[in-house]
Amino acid sequence: MDRVIGIDLGTTNSCVAVMDGDEAVVIPNRGGYKTTPSIVAVTEAGKRLVGHIAKRQSITNAENTVAAAKRLIGRKWNTAPVKSALMTCSYGIVEGPHGDVRIQLRDKTYSVPEISSMVLQEMRVVAEDYLGEAVSKAVVTVPAYFNDNQRQATKDAGAIAGLDIIRIINEPTAAALCYGFGKGVDKTIAVYDLGGGTFDVSILEIGAHGVFKVIGTTGDTFLGGEDFDARIIDWLVAGFQDEHQIDIRKDRMALQRLRDAAEKAKCELSSVRETEINLPFIVSTGRNEALHLQRSLSRETLERLCEDLIERTVDICRQALVEAKLDADEIEDVLLVGGMTRMPAVQRAVTEFFQREPNRGVHPDEVVALGAAIQGAALVDDKHEMILLDVTPHALGIMTFGSYFEELIPQNTTVPTSRAKIFTTSRDHQTAVKILVMQGESKQAGDNELLGEFVLTGLRSAPKGQVEIEVTFEINTDGIVSVHAKDLETQQAQSIQVTASSGLTTDEVQSMIEGAKEYMVERRTDEEFEGAKQSAETLLAELEAMLPEVDRVVGGADFGRDAVTKARQVIERTQAAMDRRDTAALKEQLEQLARTQRMFKGVVARGG
Ligand code: AMP
Repeated sequence: MDRVIGIDLGTTNSCVAVMDGDEAVVIPNRGGYKTTPSIVAVTEAGKRLVGHIAKRQSITNAENTVAAAKRLIGRKWNTAPVKSALMTCSYGIVEGPHGDVRIQLRDKTYSVPEISSMVLQEMRVVAEDYLGEAVSKAVVTVPAYFNDNQRQATKDAGAIAGLDIIRIINEPTAAALCYGFGKGVDKTIAVYDLGGGTFDVSILEIGAHGVFKVIGTTGDTFLGGEDFDARIIDWLVAGFQDEHQIDIRKDRMALQRLRDAAEKAKCELSSVRETEINLPFIVSTGRNEALHLQRSLSRETLERLCEDLIERTVDICRQALVEAKLDADEIEDVLLVGGMTRMPAVQRAVTEFFQREPNRGVHPDEVVALGAAIQGAALVDDKHEMILLDVTPHALGIMTFGSYFEELIPQNTTVPTSRAKIFTTSRDHQTAVKILVMQGESKQAGDNELLGEFVLTGLRSAPKGQVEIEVTFEINTDGIVSVHAKDLETQQAQSIQVTASSGLTTDEVQSMIEGAKEYMVERRTDEEFEGAKQSAETLLAELEAMLPEVDRVVGGADFGRDAVTKARQVIERTQAAMDRRDTAALKEQLEQLARTQRMFKGVVARGG
């Protein structure tokens, strides 16, 4: 049976988990860390770096290092979040061919799903190394409040990474699964999930028989830890400006250092009351003089700077309760998910709002990936009994005359769901009908997210009003929307062209998949070479150390001189294979090296 991994593809960090027997476990990466930074970089030599290694070089290579790509996934160019990212990102963002967002690293432009695919691919490798087998199936989590475009783009990222995403589940739902699965929990709970870039709150009913029913979900896909960091950065920049009349934000390297220092200070202030921010030589003045930045930040100041952000999360919690038609005191447990929930002010706000201490039994960084792994196993294995009923976070509808939004499927409807609507032709012999499908809560179509322009083509030629097309709008369990149509009289399926989608075309995804495959082959070859090189270097060092002794013991005899000469030749050939990076030749020499080593050991033992 195929193993399914669960991946929490986070804004700041990602985490991968798998079922081990009846228990979900987080898989550590090679460095032993349970989470991997969702950071991708390209070095000057064109090498791709992902994770900790990318994070470590982010200050010196700020322009070619992408962090928090999740904030841009599935977004259209002309939107507020993208404009805001343009102001704060250290890497280049440009408009893509479909009104989408592309990222410039060195001389290449990447789509956002491509960048996310690199993180997914890294998580896949982490899992494959640990399990010692190839992995092709995954359950990937997304913020509950992600719309169809964002979900579709995440699915594309999976495809590019060579992963079959068998299900997309919402992060808070995954957390609830990890909390309640197999434990006979029978409660109504709230999940407060504040991560690096997004905020979600979901209310769920968990039944003792493995039924997880989401009653409602609300959120903000542009509210998270990065906004808290930004407040600290603003504060530091303003202070520096007052003191030196210099805007340090203009220097990309300085900005990256500020960003790191701000995040570090924020995290520290979760456990201490005061911290020192110290950035020596942050910029130089026009007179070649280096300036330092040194300030102390108290927890109190941090809380004041971020008060409104926390208040926004509380407002969203209030809205979630209203939509779930529940009072705060009907919530029987509150789960805290996401790194930001370690901040004491966040915990206080949640405790105050729900009038209860939040549950401390789940690990905020790991619970989502664990839940995804549980869901993955349940999907391929009947043994794991569980029923998961999630909802659509946004209403689905179409644009009608006058740019109004006609709602077809309301927000918080349990998925999968579908709704059919009949369209009739309004002109004689009309052969095409255009439908604009959107998601959102506004009555004004323009305020909602356009998912696509669906054009029904090749309609039967008939007088107006005589062709009736039934169009079915469907939202599947991944929260992804599809549209089908049929002619009601002939019962023939009607073809639909999707035109205004902001995602990637099938051809683009296909060519990116090929690119990613090539990368994986190169990477595995590289790893194989590095592994062989390491073994060769160890053997070489041992042989070199033994040579003088061997020479002393047997060098006087012909066969001994022969053996030493042969050994030197093997050493030279090994060196040459390493210089050429020829893995096959190196592996051949490894055998020779091992044989020579055995022989040398024998000689030394006899001679000693
Ligand atoms: P996540 O997306 O769940 O990995 O959350 C990452 C966010 O949590 C980032 O903005 C981190 O800076 C933040 N974070 C992690 N640890 C802490 C901490 N101890 N205190 C405050 N924020 C934290």
